[in-house]
Amino acid sequence: MDYYSSQISKLIEELSRLPGIGAKTAQRLAFHIINMPEDQVSVLSNSIVEAKKNVRYCKDCLTLTDKELCPICSSPRRDKGQIMVVENPRDLAAYEKTGKFEGVYHVLHGAISPMLGIGPADIKLKELMTRLQQDVDEVIIATNSSLEGEATAMYLSKLIKPAGIKVSRIASGIPVGGDLEYIDEVTLLRAFEGRVEL
Ligand code: ZN
Repeated sequence: MDYYSSQISKLIEELSRLPGIGAKTAQRLAFHIINMPEDQVSVLSNSIVEAKKNVRYCKDCLTLTDKELCPICSSPRRDKGQIMVVENPRDLAAYEKTGKFEGVYHVLHGAISPMLGIGPADIKLKELMTRLQQDVDEVIIATNSSLEGEATAMYLSKLIKPAGIKVSRIASGIPVGGDLEYIDEVTLLRAFEGRVEL
C-alpha cells in the first residue's frame, strides 16, 4: 500500500473494514471517490455522519428509525395485537414489501447461537417480553430457518406460551438455512399465510 499517498492508503484501509469489501474493491471505491466532484463527496460523507447520528432503535419494535417510533409502530392502521418477530431490520423490510402483514414487528437484532456464544440475553428478548404484558393476541415467529433461527423460535415459543398468547411459526417453503431477506415476496407470503401454531 506504500505506493499511494498516506491519505489514499487511509481511505482504502477504512473502506476495506466494511463487510464484503475486499482490498481490491476498497481500492476501486477509493479511486472512484477521489474522482467524484467534491460536492458529491460531501453529500456522501454527510449522509453517513447524519445517519449514524440520528438513526436509533424504535421505542416499540426496535427497528432502525430516525424518530422515537418507526412509521409502522406509529401508524394507527397497524394491529398492535399481532407481533411478528424477526431477526433484523432487513427481514422486517422483506416482509413489509409483501404489503400483506397488518400487525407490527419486533426486531431481535440477532438469533440465539450456542456455537457463537450468543445467548437469550444477547438479543432483544427482554424487550419483547415487556411488550407482551400489553394486549397481544398472536406472536408470529419469523426468524430464519437456519439452526440459529430455529433454536430461537423454540426458545421463544417455550417462553411465551405459558403466558396464554397464541404463538405461531411461519411455514417452511423458506429453504432450510435460507435468509429471509433474499426470498421472493410470493414465497414469504405463502410462509406467512401457512404459519402453524406452536
Ligand atoms: Zn417500530
